[in-house]
Amino acid sequence: MAQAFHNQVVLVTGSSRGIGRACIERFAEAGARVVINALHHPEEADVLLQQLQERFPEQSMKIVADVTDENQVQQLFDTVLERWGRLDVLVNNAGIHRDQLLMRMPLERFQEVIDVNLKSLFLCCKQASRIMLKQKSGKIVNIASVVGRTGNAGQSNYAASKAGVIAFTQSLAQELAPRQIAVNAVAPGFIDSDMTRHFNADQREKLLQKIPQGRFGRCEEVAEVVLFLSSDRCRYVTGQTLNVDGGMVMM
Ligand code: NAP
Repeated sequence: MAQAFHNQVVLVTGSSRGIGRACIERFAEAGARVVINALHHPEEADVLLQQLQERFPEQSMKIVADVTDENQVQQLFDTVLERWGRLDVLVNNAGIHRDQLLMRMPLERFQEVIDVNLKSLFLCCKQASRIMLKQKSGKIVNIASVVGRTGNAGQSNYAASKAGVIAFTQSLAQELAPRQIAVNAVAPGFIDSDMTRHFNADQREKLLQKIPQGRFGRCEEVAEVVLFLSSDRCRYVTGQTLNVDGGMVMM
């Protein structure tokens, strides 16, 4: 996809590492001007920013912002507009998990996951829609999870948030389709990143047995699908959620 995003402005939330970082790198390689966002570990975003600036001068910026905070989200989008005057692609990627059986889960742990994984879509999509409606163009890609389709014991908060991402995607896609703005989602299975590094060898082995391709995915493999859904090659697809999971969930 050489230069397929030449001069387009792309914001990926939660992009200091993992899937978000892989998306930023691929968009930058494809010619986009990219906005890196992170919150708790801005030093990771700084490392990425420096690497990108060496390869693609003037094509990247970093904004520290909490995607659950309305004022910070407003500031985030205002800063992008001030610097580059437009927004072509928004990838809602920031996400956390706080796993616990329901009977032991305090309300705060439920709420925290819903806020980062789902409320952030409400806040970021609202800002992006305003900009994209004025431009009469744009793409939004939301990162869901296969768990949002199947549920998972110990992840009622996470699974509910990701099921919400899928339904939110379908709803906003219907609202924006008449204006030619596409809204889609990607549902990763188990991907090697900080989020899945805590599994011990036994747990990993059990999980591998559930994956027909017999391995965890790589962040770059999710990024490739995000780029496709964001590109001009994908013009007649909206409201869809595409699993990227080595065949784990076939629906
Ligand atoms: P990760 O490596 O833990 O990265 C999460 C990113 O989100 C980090 O850049 C983090 O930055 C950022 N973030 C967290 N809270 C934030 C907040 N309030 N505001 C702004 N940024 C915030 O996770 P990942 O594995 O790449 O996952 C990325 C997305 O894919 C998530 O939505 C996740 O649910 C989804 N997913 C992952 C998997 C998997 O197997 N890895 C599977 C299915 C779905 P800071 O630390 O600087 O805050």
